[in-house]
Amino acid sequence: MKTVSSLLDDYWHERYKRISHLNIRSSIYDVTNRCNLRCKGCFFFSSDEHLVKEENDINKWKEFVDREVERGVNLAILIGGEPTLCLDRVEAFYKRVPTYCATNGLLKVPRDRFPGMMVGISLWGNSEDEKVLRGRDTFTVSLKNYEGDPYTYYLYTITPNQIGRIDPIVKRIHDAGLKVHLQLLSNDEGADGFYWNHEKLVEVRAEMDGVLDRYPDAVISSKYYHKVLTTGKMLGRKWGWMECPSVTELRDTRNPRPKHLIRFTRWGADLKTMHRCCTSATRDCTTCKDGAAHMSWIMVNKRAHIRTAEDLQNWIEVYEMFAKLYRYIPW
Ligand code: SF4
Ligand code: SF4
Repeated sequence: MKTVSSLLDDYWHERYKRISHLNIRSSIYDVTNRCNLRCKGCFFFSSDEHLVKEENDINKWKEFVDREVERGVNLAILIGGEPTLCLDRVEAFYKRVPTYCATNGLLKVPRDRFPGMMVGISLWGNSEDEKVLRGRDTFTVSLKNYEGDPYTYYLYTITPNQIGRIDPIVKRIHDAGLKVHLQLLSNDEGADGFYWNHEKLVEVRAEMDGVLDRYPDAVISSKYYHKVLTTGKMLGRKWGWMECPSVTELRDTRNPRPKHLIRFTRWGADLKTMHRCCTSATRDCTTCKDGAAHMSWIMVNKRAHIRTAEDLQNWIEVYEMFAKLYRYIPW
């Protein structure tokens, strides 16, 4: 029988041991329904997930986070809307549970108040692309706000029309002393010219691999993740609703239920609504390119990767990537 020990040499076994004890139980929280941008293709607004009645009593937020910790959550992923518009709510999480805060980077998280909080800045291309898709050049502002910050990385959502233009963006992030993780646009609002096809996915994969080779200290990624994300296939299985691991547990009606994130919930800003999954309930799962969901797909399927040394090493690299992004292990 194939086992972890039989497939790994000492070097890989050490790497495996570094991440195998992690017992991550994450959930996602919409901190607010408001945002200081309105990006074309934002899943939050395009699916009307912002229409829940926002809870404004900070004590209710504190009690809610306490209940989440009791429920077993040990990683809070804050999204929105824009969480930095409600720093008291961010603090309610930060003081109680390891916390990651997604932001568009226009407002700087004050480091005296949140010294070690992981911050992920959303980025949709270079300054010109961002003007088209987000209404302004957020890249220049966020770079200035976070240059050299050791707890910050860019979550760069690559769009189909950026093929051939990814390197200068990664270089700019690298030169600012920051890290970058890559994912692909799902085009939730059908923006013209932003659809993927097979050829574009082949090209973008090559380019993602290229920047990983050229900027290994800045790009937090793995070639296996690029492969799974761009092909929608893993070990011969096809991505889609029946495989997705990032579904709110109490809303998961699938039968049979696939391997999934244990205790995962995505909560609305009313602290009552449970959204279907980590992105939009109106998104077509067959075309979903969410990076975190694909990463989790690989991670929850460890057993399936105990097949060949290469498969298991691929799995370890993806797990390490996740662990770095949430600072369970150093960059
Ligand atoms: S910054 Fe984020 S939440 Fe705000 S509109 Fe853009 S994608 Fe949506
Ligand atoms: S939209 Fe994406 S993340 Fe949501 S259930 Fe479908 S495949 Fe999963």
